[in-house]
Amino acid sequence: MTIQHTPTLDLAHLREQVTGDVLTPDDDGYDDARRLAYGGLDPRPAVIVRVRDADDVRAALAFARETGLEVAVRSGGHSSVGYGTSAGGLVVDVRGLTGLEVDPVRRVAWAGAGVTTGEYTAAVAPHGLATGFGDMGTVGLSGITLSGGVGLLARKHGLTIDSLLAAEVVTADGRVLTVDAEHHPDLFWGLRGGGGNLGVVTRLQLRLHDVRSFLGGLLVLPATAPVVAGVVDLALRAPRELTVIASVMPCPPMPFLPPEAHGRPVVLATVAWAGDPDEGRRVVDGLRALGTPVADLVAPQPYAALFPQMPAPPDPAPSALGRTLLRDSVDEATAGQVLDWIAASPGPMRVVQVRVLGGAVADVPPDATAYAHRDAPMMLNVASMYTDPGDRAAVHVAVTAMADRLRQGRPGAYVAFLGDEGPDGVRAAYPGGTWDRLAALKRRYDPENVFHLNQNVPPA
Ligand SMILES: Cc1cc2nc3c(=O)[nH]c(=O)nc-3n(C[C@H](O)[C@H](O)[C@H](O)COP(=O)(O)OP(=O)(O)OC[C@H]3O[C@@H](n4cnc5c(N)ncnc54)[C@H](O)[C@@H]3O)c2cc1C
Repeated sequence: MTIQHTPTLDLAHLREQVTGDVLTPDDDGYDDARRLAYGGLDPRPAVIVRVRDADDVRAALAFARETGLEVAVRSGGHSSVGYGTSAGGLVVDVRGLTGLEVDPVRRVAWAGAGVTTGEYTAAVAPHGLATGFGDMGTVGLSGITLSGGVGLLARKHGLTIDSLLAAEVVTADGRVLTVDAEHHPDLFWGLRGGGGNLGVVTRLQLRLHDVRSFLGGLLVLPATAPVVAGVVDLALRAPRELTVIASVMPCPPMPFLPPEAHGRPVVLATVAWAGDPDEGRRVVDGLRALGTPVADLVAPQPYAALFPQMPAPPDPAPSALGRTLLRDSVDEATAGQVLDWIAASPGPMRVVQVRVLGGAVADVPPDATAYAHRDAPMMLNVASMYTDPGDRAAVHVAVTAMADRLRQGRPGAYVAFLGDEGPDGVRAAYPGGTWDRLAALKRRYDPENVFHLNQNVPPA
């Protein structure tokens, strides 16, 4: 491996300008700082700036401009294509922006862009409050929020962006703007779903919701076609208090799952009921009745307790390849195709994940934010993990073939689950007028496409 040094950069000047750390390949901590959540990605940036405030971001962007270094913005590091880093470029690492101010009376919180969704959820939990993000606490709060945020409170309280009240953002030309519905409303529209295209977000203000009455946990059922279709159908028809994320996959070897089930096809459903517990129990009993549970951890418990229960990614992290799509339903025939694919496709772990939407997600008009797929009843994610790079080609063929089959010609994609599909994937995430509006915003706020390491919308 070539070790890259940076003798020509005037790092002393940069270090004078920023209060945070500036790391190069010669510095202790560089390798830790450049590590990402996924395996198989190992780029070596020339400089990592661990920013401490918006002024540090401005200084880092100015330095990149002067030196011509490519800019990457990194928060929780979960981009599956490694957009949070740049080989030979400059990484604006926001993980040091950890401030968190919670106002439980007004039910709002200001969070630094470096806070993870798990840290935020744990911090607001003692007040009986939550903002919905995804289903994994290690994901960066700013990365998921800029994408949309499809999680366990989606049907009850909407996407994360539906709870976003304001954001502080540093634009490509170094302006620090506080944007909300009244100030720079165009930019505020674009930040809600437009990914990292429009600037570096340093702080976010989010609405908190009362989650004191909550029931949830993992429900693992043996996967047959009627069970898979039944789970999806029930989750679609249920009151909006219920959100289900159902992963059809070989049973993972987790300690709370019986060894004899390991490797057999299961529906690993994360169940979240945010409402009256008695009604919730009745609804969840309907799910339980679909099969004899392999494991049933659904119980009245704090919403925040669900996050640590999620299967943590293995360490070292494998590589993963996924495809995102939208659908109206999953009937038994479709479920059968999914099960055949799970049984036959390569990779140590294969999954077709169904996120049932509707409810509060669909209350918001499609043009109100840069997430346009408000009418999609569900999104699916076909994914496979692999450890040997030599397996990538076979995994790619299998995953894309299954996704194309499930897509049935329905366009649309969720930007956070896009992989390396290129411009067509980004266009699918931002259909029609959404694309035009984002491209116009890009021309206004980032005409030189400084922020291009993302699911990129080039300037109009
Ligand atoms: C295991 C796993 C589980 C997931 N679960 C969910 C889920 O349940 N729901 C869901 O909606 N998504 C989910 N995602 C997708 C996730 O939301 C996106 O990958 C998100 O972009 C990750 O954000 P990050 O900060 O962790 O990643 P990073 O790699 O640090 O950031 C990804 C990109 O976001 C942009 N970005 C991040 N922070 C900033 C910032 N402060 N300012 C400007 N741009 C920024 C940059 O373009 C960056 O390249 C999951 C991903 C993984 C890997």
